[in-house]
Amino acid sequence: MKYISICLVSLLFLVAPSTWAQYDYQEREREPGHYNQNKFKQLYEEFSTPNTYRSASGAPGPDYYQQRADYVMDIELDDRNAKIFGEETITYTNNSPDDLEYLWLQVDQNVRTKDTKSALRNETRIAQAERVESFVKKYVSEPFDGGFNIEFVKDADGKALPYTINQTMMRIDLPKSLKSKEQITFSIKWNYNIVDHIVDRSRSGYEYFPEDGNRAYVIAQFFPRMAVYSDVEGWQNHQFWGNGEFALPFGDYEVNITVPADHVLDATGTLQNRKEVFSREMLKRYDQAKKSYDKPVLIVTQEEAVAAEQGFSEKKKTWKFKAKNVRDYGFATSRKFIWDMQAVKIGSKDVMAVSLYPKEGNPLWEEYSTKAVAHTLRSYSDHTFDYPYPKAVSVHAKNQGMEYPMICWNYGRPKKDGTYSDRVKFGMISVIIHEVGHNFFPMIVNSDERQWGWMDEGLDTFMQYMAEQEFGEKYPEAIAGHAQYPSRRGEPEKIVPYMAGDQSTLAPIMSNPENVYQLGPNAYGKPATALNILRETVMGRELFDHAFKTYAQRWKFKHPTPEDFFRTMEDASAVDLDWYWRGWFYTTDYVDIGVKEIKKYFVNDEPTKEMREYMAQNNIAESDLLPQVFLAEEDSEDFDPDLKGKTASTNSKFLKEFMMDKLSAEERAEVKEPKYFYEITFDKPGGIPMPLIVEYTYADGTTENITYPAEIWRKNDAEVSRVIASEKELIGVVVDPKLETADIDMTNNSWPKKEEKSDFQKFKDNIKGK
Ligand SMILES: [Zn+2]
Repeated sequence: MKYISICLVSLLFLVAPSTWAQYDYQEREREPGHYNQNKFKQLYEEFSTPNTYRSASGAPGPDYYQQRADYVMDIELDDRNAKIFGEETITYTNNSPDDLEYLWLQVDQNVRTKDTKSALRNETRIAQAERVESFVKKYVSEPFDGGFNIEFVKDADGKALPYTINQTMMRIDLPKSLKSKEQITFSIKWNYNIVDHIVDRSRSGYEYFPEDGNRAYVIAQFFPRMAVYSDVEGWQNHQFWGNGEFALPFGDYEVNITVPADHVLDATGTLQNRKEVFSREMLKRYDQAKKSYDKPVLIVTQEEAVAAEQGFSEKKKTWKFKAKNVRDYGFATSRKFIWDMQAVKIGSKDVMAVSLYPKEGNPLWEEYSTKAVAHTLRSYSDHTFDYPYPKAVSVHAKNQGMEYPMICWNYGRPKKDGTYSDRVKFGMISVIIHEVGHNFFPMIVNSDERQWGWMDEGLDTFMQYMAEQEFGEKYPEAIAGHAQYPSRRGEPEKIVPYMAGDQSTLAPIMSNPENVYQLGPNAYGKPATALNILRETVMGRELFDHAFKTYAQRWKFKHPTPEDFFRTMEDASAVDLDWYWRGWFYTTDYVDIGVKEIKKYFVNDEPTKEMREYMAQNNIAESDLLPQVFLAEEDSEDFDPDLKGKTASTNSKFLKEFMMDKLSAEERAEVKEPKYFYEITFDKPGGIPMPLIVEYTYADGTTENITYPAEIWRKNDAEVSRVIASEKELIGVVVDPKLETADIDMTNNSWPKKEEKSDFQKFKDNIKGK
């Protein structure tokens, strides 16, 4: 059905003097420099200029390159003394066009030297009450000495190479420059004391179990690792202070790890000597697990693990692994470990989903860990690319949530009596999804974590949200009592308290992780929510999913930058998103859109007083005008109340004539005739422009939903008006009725105003009350 209102509006504007059109943006436009504030201006000033390494489309350019570092390592664990010894041979390939006079390596364990500056970088204050352990660590005990002891650095001929250590970075000076396209091989021997990661709250170390005297080790950042050299940073040699994670090149790893013979161990890569380290029973179970697609098979049972806890073998076993095209290496080892596995079909390949946990993780871990691993591999593969590695291992480690290629550490421990709360259960499933998910971002789509925490944490948390929701749908029994999986992050309203918070403690997403005030919401929650809103509300699933997949596929096994992501999302969708990146990623603005005012008009038989005055001033006779349809506000003295609620053509003789003269009988039958005309003004106290999502409710109870694109704010960032012409009376207007936009203040979202306080207002009042 055509709406005749289209003709009405255009007729009016044909002759309406510009003063009648209420566009105060015209005033603002004249302010000097105003356009520079325009939120729809393209991000040319913020983005780096595209070049032959990185294309304007967001894809790798024709000259894109990346360095490569292959490792051969022999590692030995001294379980008695919690010490680790290693010797590595690195073959480094310079694919850059530059000659390199020196190489930079990351020696992350130096964050735990006795004189580490990391401990001095934060302000400290007296706490009037403190947990004993933390008090002792701070004021009583000697600082732990966990830095690297470098025994030697030698070239391929065994000649010592000079090196300099600057905190967590080691520079190796080369006798002659490593030319473009050349390779160099060198070796490093090292050892360090392994820290108790529960006490130290570190990403790697051991947990000590006083009941049986054993340790469970989760070992990472344990060897000097090549830093990234790239077209955007040169050497990425920012110090490891503790928050900003890692930037690492890809390579192949050959790693032999020697541990006590009664340990159970898993690591990045494919085990090469299974027959040497597995018992005959374990080999038999492993063959079953490879064919078990629906549930895990135990390789080491709880009874066997508990029996092993009682001993301490003085014999050794060497576990040999090879890993292709990974950016890092991690392993977990203990005699306490239970071990289960199952197969997962990913594309045409079988991947092993694996879990390693002490009895302290049960009964939670035997039930959910491997299930969550398998689900994550399927869900993430669907949204990006088929998981390319042969396995994914989830290791139970108290308080941990940390990721490495093919292996990760995860928290979630039941109480001693084996009971657990919903919080512990969902926390565990969520952290497993998250850390296994990190295989995709940043282990394969290998962004620079040290500089851009959100590129891996934000994208991964967004993917985690989708995988959690799918988990809830797939395993309804696992979420019994909940309508959907209770995701902690991802839903728009969950980010509201953060975005509405004190501006002096907020930083844009585009910030270095060391410098933000609240890393969780900044690098995880907000970008995840921004992407979720982009998918559900701004772009729609089809366009978003295609563009997101394009980004993942363009940059898998490569090093993307934020611009590569931003550009690809636009390039693959034809949606201009510069305004969205600007608002959500480059500012600390928030979303707040409201309905400010509604004026009701009817078609009148006379011009308004205001219009008559204007015509008099400008010597315009009524007869000079084209036939006009006059509208007057309901409450004004201009309006003849007898005409109220009648159709437009009843009230206007000109319109009636027009319709009789110009429209054929068929056309007349087609048109609807509105009776009510509303001018609705929306205001935007929040800095971020968003689509204006409006639900109109009419007197007969029907509703109409209209989403005006975000571009509606492009000429007036403060307020905009829209006209609704209707046969029915309008009785309600709600902005963002389904809470899709993370609008921080819902008290201004409704007309008539709702008396009830919004959840957010209640939350704010609550905080003030405390
Ligand atoms: Zn993470």
